[in-house]
Amino acid sequence: MIDFRSDTVTLPCKAMRDVMHTAPLGDDVYGDDPSVNTLEAFAAQRHGFASALFCSSGTQANLLALMAHCERGDEYICGQNAHNYKFEGGGAAVLGSIQPQPVENESDGSLCFDKLRAAIKPDDFHFANTRLLSLENTIGGKVLPISYLAKAREFTQANKLALHLDGARVYNAAVALQVDITEITRHFDSVSICLSKGLGAPVGSLLLGSVALINKAKRWRKVLGGGMRQAGMLAAAGHFALEHNVSRLADDHVNARYLAQLLNEIEGFHVDLAKDTTNMVYAHVAENLDIHALAQQLKAQGILFSPNKTLRLVTHLGITRADIELFIAKLTAALHV
Ligand SMILES: *Cc1c(COP(=O)(O)O)cnc(C)c1O
Repeated sequence: MIDFRSDTVTLPCKAMRDVMHTAPLGDDVYGDDPSVNTLEAFAAQRHGFASALFCSSGTQANLLALMAHCERGDEYICGQNAHNYKFEGGGAAVLGSIQPQPVENESDGSLCFDKLRAAIKPDDFHFANTRLLSLENTIGGKVLPISYLAKAREFTQANKLALHLDGARVYNAAVALQVDITEITRHFDSVSICLSKGLGAPVGSLLLGSVALINKAKRWRKVLGGGMRQAGMLAAAGHFALEHNVSRLADDHVNARYLAQLLNEIEGFHVDLAKDTTNMVYAHVAENLDIHALAQQLKAQGILFSPNKTLRLVTHLGITRADIELFIAKLTAALHV
């Protein structure tokens, strides 16, 4: 299968499976899993934080960050399109008694500081306590500029807010900007990173922060049922991903660009080539085109994508340049029967 649905569909390579197979293990709830401990120590140091926590998913890492920064009756400000607002089942409200305060994302994915300022509540018992600003990078494949992150840091300091980054795909941002990951992470009080997307691990995310913040998050992780036992098999895969699968994300970006150009030449599909969207291609599909039928046809030929009027196609380590050419050929053929 050539699977364009997401970079979450990546499968561990042979070398990654080997390190999982031979990883030293223990009970991580007792703090006894050497592979988890090694990953957490490595991740904290690598990203410039005092502490790190291996979590079962990006959703869990984000929820733990919100619950560690905020108490019951507090609120966090985020984008209307933020994953940790829109796509995580309302977890902060449901499980954390934390109120989200979304503001509209700008077209580049950023949040406007004037709108953010207006959303901060005065210190008055009518209001929730505004505690945290949460950003996302990449967002919809788009990279937030480093200068924007620096301004966000200044803004949160001036307004006594903490600053969290949902960095599920933050390595795509670092690779696209050609900067070391710490040029991004250093602006934040906490960062979550998915190991199981473009980085290619089967399971797991990291939460990075201060010792106090991570200790609080660790407590909530246990409460939420996220205390895993011999998790080192998974941590070893995540560690391998960080050490071997970062620089190759550039290939995914080149492939996405190539796909965008080819797709844009096909009648009925329009891609805005002025926008760079790392490993994601967004194509507007013409009204008269039955994208659902097309998806069914291509599925029968071994190609998967989620049929939508704004089509999102994602490149990853399971997709080669040849796969893209095959997809374009089959798509063209399907459109001309
Ligand atoms: C995928 C994703 C998450 C959640 O990760 P899961 O491991 O799927 O729970 C969080 N934030 C962003 C931006 C994501 O893309």
